Amino acid sequence: MDNLPMKEGLSYDDILFLPAYSEVAPGDVSVKSRLAGDIYLNVPIISAAMDSVTDATLAIGIALEGGVGVIHRNYKPEIQADEVGRVKRFLNWVIQDPQTVTEETTIGTIKKIMAAYNATGIPVIDADQKLCGIITSRDLRFCDDNSLLVKDVMTRNPVSEIGIPTVSSAREKFDKYKIEKLPIIDQNGYVKGLVTYKDMDKKKSHPNASLDALGRLIVGAAISPVDYNKRIPLLLDKKVDFVVMDTASGDTKSVIDAVYDIKKRYNIPVIGGNTATAGATRRLIDAGADCIKVGIGPGSICTTRIVAGIGVPQFTAVMDCAEEAEKAGIPVIADGGIKYSGDITKAIGAGADIVMIGNLFAGLKEAPGKEVIYEGRIFKEYRGMGSIGAINDGSGDRYRMTEGEDPVPEGIEGRVPYKGELKPFLAQLVTGLRKGMAYCGCKDINELKNYKNFMKITAAGLKESHVHDVFITKESPNYTK
Ligand code: IMP
Repeated sequence: MDNLPMKEGLSYDDILFLPAYSEVAPGDVSVKSRLAGDIYLNVPIISAAMDSVTDATLAIGIALEGGVGVIHRNYKPEIQADEVGRVKRFLNWVIQDPQTVTEETTIGTIKKIMAAYNATGIPVIDADQKLCGIITSRDLRFCDDNSLLVKDVMTRNPVSEIGIPTVSSAREKFDKYKIEKLPIIDQNGYVKGLVTYKDMDKKKSHPNASLDALGRLIVGAAISPVDYNKRIPLLLDKKVDFVVMDTASGDTKSVIDAVYDIKKRYNIPVIGGNTATAGATRRLIDAGADCIKVGIGPGSICTTRIVAGIGVPQFTAVMDCAEEAEKAGIPVIADGGIKYSGDITKAIGAGADIVMIGNLFAGLKEAPGKEVIYEGRIFKEYRGMGSIGAINDGSGDRYRMTEGEDPVPEGIEGRVPYKGELKPFLAQLVTGLRKGMAYCGCKDINELKNYKNFMKITAAGLKESHVHDVFITKESPNYTK
């Protein structure tokens, strides 16, 4: 017994990175990072697949700022897919294969089409199916005669673009010709898409947004080994960008088989997990996972380590899993346990490419949890997906529970302080990370991943790190004890 090797497990609070000589300023560093396959994020942060964290509203908010959201799976499959659709439609840079009409369509019909599709401009095609005009709500403003035909009021030979334009080339045309709609055609004049001024403006005001090749916001969705064949076709139909195997432990036959099967059947990046050891990471990568999500027990609402007596402190778990994933060039997500922006620096310093956050986002205005007032202050509800409430709403299989079984929870239901809007809060987190990188002289995520210059600290060191021997009289936006 005396000679049994005892591995040491470290948490974020157990370590600090050493500062280094640096010529890098926080504003100069790049925090762009790879999530899975060819999906890159300008901000290496994703929101947790939890029913008090990520619905379409939060997923839109975070993707506009460069991160991404994972829509939870306590939604029924159809509703989850609709939430994905809401995110994908929010920023329609190019409306693909838009509704078209012919010159002979009546104005009465056009008004109905515009109302049904919420469209304010429709390309008009001639007898050869080629673009010949455009009809917009401006053309209809003073047109009361519904029996008139499109050819009587449309704008002929509209300004168009061959192939998908860049923001600046579209802007040039909108400004030069004072138009609000730009039809996209192919070399032969067939209509392929439509760009609107409104969407271009939205895109311009969010320069960091996480966008797919067609300029739509990126979004993921949670699935499980039990429901993936039901969910994935519906999600693909709504153009989901990736799916996340949402299980408490990914090192099981059912998860590994499911990842393998998904990669065989569907063309979609899969994030596998959760893992806390190199072996589990390797098995999921061998099954075809495009990214590994690491974290067994670090979550703020999690009681798995207490209830089941298993888990690995998160800094060590990320280090071990990332080292294994690195061999295969597969990215890693550090999931759970982020309490401050400094923990993001530590997670990436341990080898993660991305961090997943639940608690810190649950108090945001955009999060779906209910607002509650407690002792005069505003809070929002935040609960574990393994809490009794969440299990009763459908998430039992995350913890390998079978239907009808009495719940043995691995999470709690609670509340977190209300934090206001996502944008300024996320900016605090990202700037904290940038500061950490600048202290270490790391100019990009890859350099921080490989920095590895940290030391273990004592309880006294942690006490000294936090605010001490003073009453805080004015709370700061990035620190509460
Ligand atoms: P947090 O950011 O520390 O609150 O951690 C969020 C993470 O905790 C999620 O992304 C999940 O991986 C994990 N998690 C969510 N619900 C539960 C639960 O009920 N028990 C254990 N872990 C959970």
